[in-house]
Amino acid sequence: MTDIKKRLISTKNTIHLAEDAAQRPPYSVSLLAVSKTWPAEALRHANQAGQRFFGENYLQEALKKMSALADLDIEWHFIGPIQSNKTKEIASHFEWVQSLDRAKIAQRLAKQRPENLPDLNVCIQVNIDNESSKSGITPVELFSFAHEISQIDRLVLRGLMIIPTKTADEAQQRIAFKKARDLFEQLAKRYPTIDTLSMGMSADMILAIEEGSTMVRIGTALFGQRKPNIPKLLEDADFRA
Ligand SMILES: *Cc1c(COP(=O)(O)O)cnc(C)c1O
Repeated sequence: MTDIKKRLISTKNTIHLAEDAAQRPPYSVSLLAVSKTWPAEALRHANQAGQRFFGENYLQEALKKMSALADLDIEWHFIGPIQSNKTKEIASHFEWVQSLDRAKIAQRLAKQRPENLPDLNVCIQVNIDNESSKSGITPVELFSFAHEISQIDRLVLRGLMIIPTKTADEAQQRIAFKKARDLFEQLAKRYPTIDTLSMGMSADMILAIEEGSTMVRIGTALFGQRKPNIPKLLEDADFRA
């Protein structure tokens, strides 16, 4: 068995135990494998072990892997910051965009979504802790932004994505997750297409599942520790550490 297969089994097991502990139905939480910085071969191993959903943060890096893995059945999620000169490629190559936080970007993605592809699934990224340096719509802006997005043809508003402030304080983490869940539930009442609350990463997935996540985005626990600032990645114009 490959290491990736072992880690995949163990991560799924963690998810199922957390679902069970939170008295949530089995398989109510889906697993997005976050594969930034890892070579196509690592994704191939994960796919062969049964993983279908992959998240990438950097467009150029993702496009290379997509062409190396064109023979596989993979659903690609874009989860990184989006520059407007990248929207055409993103709209053409991804099934989901989880990091939507600007109306102009949404309009471009919709306009550039190829006709032969199904509508693009989108999540609004919410800056749940109101951090000034961070991407995402603030909770106050969320409802009008969601309304705007819901009106755009070719986009399907599927839910919210949050990246809370890094902290080891569990109480603090819970507050952020609860806030996100509350916003998610309010929005889901208004928009029937909303079914996805994307929250929880390697370090906090159990807590996120307890607090209502429907999709965890897992990198390190599946692929191992990422090396920071791999020089070859600097080729990517959109690389950010
Ligand atoms: C890198 C990344 C993750 C995965 O983080 P890990 O701690 O490695 O599990 C999840 N979501 C986003 C948006 C990321 O950029």
